[in-house]
Amino acid sequence: MQHQARKTRYDQMCYQRCGRSGIKLPAISLGLWHNFGSVDVFENGKAIIFEAFDKGITHFDLANNYGPEPGSAEENFGKIAHQHLKAYRDEMLISTKAGYYMWPGPYGEWGSRKNLISSLDQSLKRMRLDYVDIFYSHRFDPDTPLEETMMALDHVVRQGKALYAGISNYPADKTREAESILRELGTPCLIHQARYSMFNRWVEDELLDVVDKRGVGLIAFSPLAQGLLTNKYLKGIPEGSRMMRNHFLKEEHLTAEKLEVISKLNELALDRGQSLAQMAIAWLLKDPRVSSVLVGASSVRQLNDSLESLRNRAFTRDELDRIEGILKA
Ligand code: NDP
Repeated sequence: MQHQARKTRYDQMCYQRCGRSGIKLPAISLGLWHNFGSVDVFENGKAIIFEAFDKGITHFDLANNYGPEPGSAEENFGKIAHQHLKAYRDEMLISTKAGYYMWPGPYGEWGSRKNLISSLDQSLKRMRLDYVDIFYSHRFDPDTPLEETMMALDHVVRQGKALYAGISNYPADKTREAESILRELGTPCLIHQARYSMFNRWVEDELLDVVDKRGVGLIAFSPLAQGLLTNKYLKGIPEGSRMMRNHFLKEEHLTAEKLEVISKLNELALDRGQSLAQMAIAWLLKDPRVSSVLVGASSVRQLNDSLESLRNRAFTRDELDRIEGILKA
């Protein structure tokens, strides 16, 4: 049965231009790295996707390897989109990526034309789509000529299998090179997807300036540091949390010092009348170079909590200084 999307879905969300492109992204986008795989509860994932779309989240981010099992997030998303959201395809911006390990042998990962094109074909089949909106090279490959990787992106855009090309996790210098190559090929680089949160600020060194100068958008992933920048670990490790279920977020990430920082940030957030998750997202959105913040969520409640961040995106000088003080401690 088709989902009947809420009529008010575009009333609350803000849309921000992605670099100097024609595309506007929702300030908050939804990522399907975790919580949408074959090991997860399908109906829960479906409810999160419906809620997101009903609240104006038009952008859904995937990759070939999201699951677990790898590929299963695309399969589940494809099933949901096909059965329930087909009527809204033109209102949705769907992305996928290739570059991390996906299948055995020399062509199952990295940045060769062979990997990228075969992988996108697989992704389209899994998602039951004719095209994705954005296709990313998921990581820079030091052993493949950058021209080859960029030509593969250009090729799939020309074929109509992707509408836009993007790069993810590329260092600043390689971003410059990739952007130049793509521009020369006639397929501009739409977007860079990079890890960015209060706990990981590498993009501030150079990358934010590079994308800004070149008119490329930046979408910040793991804005909550996979859940650390929320109140969920303040009183121990909850059953079913990512830290308990998944090797990507390890217990050793939660040192006593880190917990102290999280606790202080949480107090500051409460002073602002926000949850820590909301403050962490708002803090990223204060920079106009950040086109969108790409959150994950394991429940509708979490998604709605994160969406509330849009109600207060302004920071006083004093609040910003206090955040810096806490983070430097
Ligand atoms: P987040 O930092 O937003 O972490 C999401 C996790 O935080 C949730 O699964 C949940 O953990 C917890 N959480 C979320 N909202 C709340 C809340 N309001 N209150 C309390 N806890 C909350 O992002 P992700 O690390 O999931 O990454 C987001 C997306 O970014 C991915 O889905 C993917 O699309 C993209 N990404 C891209 C990468 C790349 O290489 N390009 C790499 C990683 C991510 P719990 O499950 O414990 O409840």
